[in-house]
Amino acid sequence: MRAEHREFEPLVVDDRCRVFILTGAGISAESGIKTFRDHNGLWEQHDVYEVASPAGWAKNPALVWRFYAQRRAQTFETAPNAAHFALAKLQQRLSDSVFLCTQNVDPLHERAGSPHVIHMHGELLKSRCERNHEPAFHDEAIYLDPRNLPRCACGALVRPHICWFGETPFHLDAIEAALSKCDLLVTIGSSGAVYPAAGFVAVAKSRGAKTVYVGPELPENVASFDECRLGTATAVVPKLFATPST
Ligand code: NAD
Repeated sequence: MRAEHREFEPLVVDDRCRVFILTGAGISAESGIKTFRDHNGLWEQHDVYEVASPAGWAKNPALVWRFYAQRRAQTFETAPNAAHFALAKLQQRLSDSVFLCTQNVDPLHERAGSPHVIHMHGELLKSRCERNHEPAFHDEAIYLDPRNLPRCACGALVRPHICWFGETPFHLDAIEAALSKCDLLVTIGSSGAVYPAAGFVAVAKSRGAKTVYVGPELPENVASFDECRLGTATAVVPKLFATPST
């Protein structure tokens, strides 16, 4: 469903306002990273479950690493856009009052200068031991040789540090704590189809927060938003927030 674009007043926020921001694949679309929907559920004719699930990993880890090799390489060819920069500026201005949670695994928020980013679905530039023998570590390597996949000191395979289908997202305790005390929740570029993230807005709203959606089309969880500001992330987010006039 689409609706007409209209002009909205900026959201006036200061450091007494606790802001929860959830970003989805849509915020990185204008940086050239395709959303999940753009892929139509397929990658090089493979179902995405084959490359993004524990079962796919158990069946063919070399194929999984080939998929993430492409995603990693893409992070070096893309740059943050005006929406990532606007959120970084907001965080720098309001410091700890802004909780930035992303479903994205790309590093574009950090590259725009965001000081704290909660990656609930993991990070493309991190890997970890599949048996969790060691914590996740920064890793920019591209693993393409199926006979030479990376291994931990314990002997187990090293896997991408990504929350795959069927796995539990990261940082849920910190997210729950931030949701329970936020005054304003803003979701940017997320279809509202992937849970638990799609349920955050209902939790914040039930606790009294104002809820705003930004994206070119209405999300599936539209009923929980007080306002939907229709437009692309780069068109809307740079004008979204304002400082109170003194
Ligand atoms: P999604 O693919 O389900 O939905 C993308 C949303 O972005 C849609 O609602 C669409 O209307 C919106 N959108 C498209 N262009 C936009 C633009 N220019 N500005 C603003 N919004 C725009 O994405 P999702 O809800 O984030 O969930 C999909 C899952 O796929 C997530 O778990 C995420 O981890 C993963 N994913 C991540 C990346 C990334 O890291 N950049 C990319 C693809 C998928």
